[in-house]
Amino acid sequence: MNASLALAGIGMTSQRTRARMVERLRAQGVRNESVLAAMAAIPRHIFVEEALASRAYEDTALPLGCSQTISQPYIVARMLEILCENRKNGSGKILEIGAGCGYQTALLGHLGYEVYAVERIRPLLVRARKNLAQIPNLKARLKHADGNLGWPEAAPFDRVIVAAAARAVPQELLRQLAMNGILLLPVGGGEQYLCRVQRTPQGFSETRLESVRFVPLLTGVE
Ligand code: SAH
Repeated sequence: MNASLALAGIGMTSQRTRARMVERLRAQGVRNESVLAAMAAIPRHIFVEEALASRAYEDTALPLGCSQTISQPYIVARMLEILCENRKNGSGKILEIGAGCGYQTALLGHLGYEVYAVERIRPLLVRARKNLAQIPNLKARLKHADGNLGWPEAAPFDRVIVAAAARAVPQELLRQLAMNGILLLPVGGGEQYLCRVQRTPQGFSETRLESVRFVPLLTGVE
């Protein structure tokens, strides 16, 4: 199949199948139109293994290889919706920890963020780069590093999003957050919940949101 056909998708990977996924997200309560438009525009099937492409638009997590998973569309949409709340204009700098296959990186780019994405497993980062090369006009930089350390040279960030569960909020990520910026991350070992931290002139204000299940945020690189 040629590259543009693969991108457009056919049958179970077509635009129509993606539109059905978006309708499902709407029914599940996702309201942010920019987020829904990004989910409609970015072809999730090019980010999953070819053998799983026909399942790319089901609302499930799928294996990425290297014992990691691409998160289910609902939780991705929900996190993006939380991040985009009260967003002033369509811009801003975002740090993404745990780029995985690059799917969420592409969505963040579509939402207009300037994306700095970090991944600790090199083969995944290589795959993310290859996947993202197929997305036109994407403003994203990727780095092979331990996300616990953030990306100090590019800080401060208006938003930080973490796709793996931390035992505690990594201090370095708080340090790299711009004033009024928001950090969104899953926290916990067995029981996990989404945690939203906002930097305010008075300090960091933390809100505990819904329960979630993510792979653990590890340290070091491989
Ligand atoms: N958002 C991804 C989901 C990836 S799953 C996607 O759309 O595909 C979580 C990812 O976090 C995994 O790829 C894992 O390797 C990565 N990860 C875990 N700990 C990390 C760390 N300390 N720094 C960077 N990446 C990390």
